[in-house]
Amino acid sequence: MAAAIDEGVGKVRRPELLNKIDVEVVINDALLLTSEDGILTALDDRTLRVWLRRQTGKYWPSVCHTLESSPTALYYYEPSRRLFCGCDSGLVHEFIVADDFNKITLECTYFGHQIRIQAVYFSYRHELLLTACREKKLNCYSTNPIDENRQNARGSYTLASMGMSITMDEAFRQCFIGDSTGNIHFLKLNANNRFEPNKPLSGHTGSVQNLLWDPDTKWLYSGSFDTAVIVWDLAAPQGVAVELNGHSDRLVGISYDNLRKLLLTCSADGHIGVWPMNVKRNETTIWLENDSCQICRMPFFWNIREMWTQKQIGLRQHHCRKCGRAVCDKCAQTRKALPLLGYETVQRICDDCIKTLRNDETVPLASFYDLRQGTIKMDYRQGKKVMMSIGTDRTIKMNFRRENIEFFGKDNVILRGWLYFPSSSSSSQSAIVMTHGFSGLKEMGLDEFARTFCCDGNFYVLVYDHQTFGSSDGQPRHDINPYSQIDDYSYAMNYLENRLNNKNISIGIWGTSYSGGHVFVVGKREKRRIKCIVSQVPTISGKNNLARRPQWQKILAEDQHCLYENREYIPIVNQANENMDLSNSFYHFFVDKYNCNEWINHMTRRSIHLYSQYEPWKSLIDLSPIPLLMIVAKQDTITSTEDQIDAYEKQVLEPKRLVLVDGGHFSVYPNEQSFEIVVKEALDWFIKYLK
Ligand SMILES: [Zn+2]
Ligand SMILES: [Zn+2]
Repeated sequence: MAAAIDEGVGKVRRPELLNKIDVEVVINDALLLTSEDGILTALDDRTLRVWLRRQTGKYWPSVCHTLESSPTALYYYEPSRRLFCGCDSGLVHEFIVADDFNKITLECTYFGHQIRIQAVYFSYRHELLLTACREKKLNCYSTNPIDENRQNARGSYTLASMGMSITMDEAFRQCFIGDSTGNIHFLKLNANNRFEPNKPLSGHTGSVQNLLWDPDTKWLYSGSFDTAVIVWDLAAPQGVAVELNGHSDRLVGISYDNLRKLLLTCSADGHIGVWPMNVKRNETTIWLENDSCQICRMPFFWNIREMWTQKQIGLRQHHCRKCGRAVCDKCAQTRKALPLLGYETVQRICDDCIKTLRNDETVPLASFYDLRQGTIKMDYRQGKKVMMSIGTDRTIKMNFRRENIEFFGKDNVILRGWLYFPSSSSSSQSAIVMTHGFSGLKEMGLDEFARTFCCDGNFYVLVYDHQTFGSSDGQPRHDINPYSQIDDYSYAMNYLENRLNNKNISIGIWGTSYSGGHVFVVGKREKRRIKCIVSQVPTISGKNNLARRPQWQKILAEDQHCLYENREYIPIVNQANENMDLSNSFYHFFVDKYNCNEWINHMTRRSIHLYSQYEPWKSLIDLSPIPLLMIVAKQDTITSTEDQIDAYEKQVLEPKRLVLVDGGHFSVYPNEQSFEIVVKEALDWFIKYLK
């Protein structure tokens, strides 16, 4: 990897750490849960534990189940909560995990191994269990509860060496078992659950710790201690095996995202590779052997006779990674990456091949980043876009690719936020700029939106806090000035263009509530740069909204004389004095739901003055031809459903789209009733107009 970084091939970034669990016990195996924010661990202190994320953001064990010996290998089938657990003693247990994750109940114990279980695989479709242990035995069990005697193995097969990993092509009942010498055993399981061996797949030179089957493409992925990943295309008429070279340490995890067609690989040095698999790669060239350089004819050092006749010193033999010919060092001076042959790091190429090498043959396809942690296992859930890694230091980390950034906003105030990188950043030419509404902070639900746009739409996403709020600078604190907030959208776009070194990047802007109004004004001003707009539950008219807030009217009436000067603080949410419906929903959102430390329930008095005179609807008529998606909640009492629909119908020209969703003003945020619809509509809009 070091070479790759120096040569600028593949980008190495540090992913954002979401969470860390210090387990303090040797971790034998772990799995990410899909349905819950949680993890299942098999620990060396003989316990099985489920860790769930609590309100505080920390993970705590919800259940701790002690076994007769240490659990060593897990397989969890989430739909029916069946957990299979192989142990150091050779026993394999089947448990049912309770709905609330507070209990693990033993269902069955499977016998037949006498020594540590290395791998387990469960097929729900065929109701069978495959197990491999240290004594080189592979067993097959029926898991059907109606089968008597199911705890005893139905079929058994002795491998030439220890089985390390198992997967299965369930449609054809083909089992694949990676072993400790680098072979992948390829066995058919007949109707009587007996193994019928085929010739093993041989290509690795080190233990095959990871196997993964993709039923859609019929590709088998294998990761090995020899640092390579091999993609075996078993459906191809002649069978194609493409080697993926980019890691410089043994592979400890592979995962496949079939929505985005990405292979994720992890090596023991903590490097993560992200490989787009919708690219046609070619089989790695076989190395030719020769007694002299196949270009200059100089003899290699073992070719004593030629050395005498040519009066030459013998040279060392090297191989060109493109044509595979045996060449001397002099005839192969250039180093290039050859991603179409699976080499993401720089490799030796002969002088002949350099002449015919096209530029597109050397463009990196995969990207790499560094966990900066010795790693023993990696798991990834595509739905949640979260990666888990188990460190050699007995910690479990959850990672995502998000960077903390800062840039100058209006009046040179430093704004801070997050920049999300799409996984295939080389192909992404579009970005989204997002910020929150009235006093909202980025931690209040914007991450969930950004993550979806980034992962499912392959967009760069920039999320930041407004000046004087959250992590951003600016004085006086908590001063809500719509005019500087509007200008800051432009500063954020400047930052993006510079940071991504691309003045032509397609930019979409997203706003919610107060900033849902800002995006109208920004769109009108920045017609050249903005390709589309998403505005949810927008502020339409400060004057109209004020009419619904007696408490704010009172404050305004009190200090008409010092309109823009008053920097005294007043509460944003005042449960006692306001219209109950309004304050309850505000209170629920800011205080109960996102009780984040950074948010403080106050703002300057002049924030209300500025609000009362702010009429973003006036910019709507000038937005066209920028496509606008407006998302309106049917029971919005804070910015008024009627005002929003009225403005949309009378002021907005085509292209436009209105989406009406159930619920009130705050129903559009994560974990609320309309979030799923809202985020999907916004994503589709960006995909339609930004790509
Ligand atoms: Zn030569
Ligand atoms: Zn060559």
